[in-house]
Amino acid sequence: ASWPTSGDLRVENLSARYSQNGPKVLNDISFHIESGQRVGIVGRTGSGKSSLTLSLLRCILTEGTVYYDGIPTNTINLDALRTNITIIPQTPELISGTLRQNLDPFDQHDDATLNDALQSAGLFSLQDEGEEGRLSLDSVISGGGANLSVGQRQIIALARAMVRGSKLLILDEATSAIDYKTDSIIQNTLRTELGGDVTVITVAHRLQTIMDSDKIMVLDGGRLVEFGTPKEL
Ligand code: ATP
Ligand code: MG
Repeated sequence: ASWPTSGDLRVENLSARYSQNGPKVLNDISFHIESGQRVGIVGRTGSGKSSLTLSLLRCILTEGTVYYDGIPTNTINLDALRTNITIIPQTPELISGTLRQNLDPFDQHDDATLNDALQSAGLFSLQDEGEEGRLSLDSVISGGGANLSVGQRQIIALARAMVRGSKLLILDEATSAIDYKTDSIIQNTLRTELGGDVTVITVAHRLQTIMDSDKIMVLDGGRLVEFGTPKEL
């Protein structure tokens, strides 16, 4: 079988900074998330939640080791890493082009697969059939997604992750830009539409969003201060 076979994530003594001489924004973080677990991350603004997601894909400078499916990620080439682990950032950048091109940049899938992913991700729950301006695969995305709401962009990014079959999916929830309805559509997708072997990490702004997670992680000042089941915390 080809790598990755699971979404197991082990982080050992991870520290991170944005520039060579900049301050540590993550400080000596260690944890283990088993394949298929649902984990929520909370913490005050500036506590390092987004930085943690970026460090998993080596988008910022890191020390320590991240093992994905048992393999140290610093031995995996960046392209492979970034196709296998999907991070949906707080404001996803889309490419200028059609919605189809955004979901399937290398033209590897048929329309039925792409439409299924959009359906499962919940895009169509936001818009009724026949509604004017309803998005379809041929819709043109302009300015990197500027013509779409942040919620729509996150749902499209989620659909892309489903098309790719990522085994580790990290959602960095939009802060204030996202309404309750969109938030619950996304959470419902994460709960019901992904395979049992897909690990899902949600950076949440409402504790309620992640109360039914397997584990909750609390960050404070770049340190991991709690990691346990919702009951334990
Ligand atoms: P929020 O809830 O507001 O999204 P967060 O927990 O995601 O906050 P981070 O964005 O990870 O917080 O920020 C952690 C620290 O890293 C903060 O001190 C922040 O100023 C710093 N930081 C974030 N982005 C950058 C950047 N691009 N360059 C330099 N420092 C940054
Ligand atoms: Mg953030």
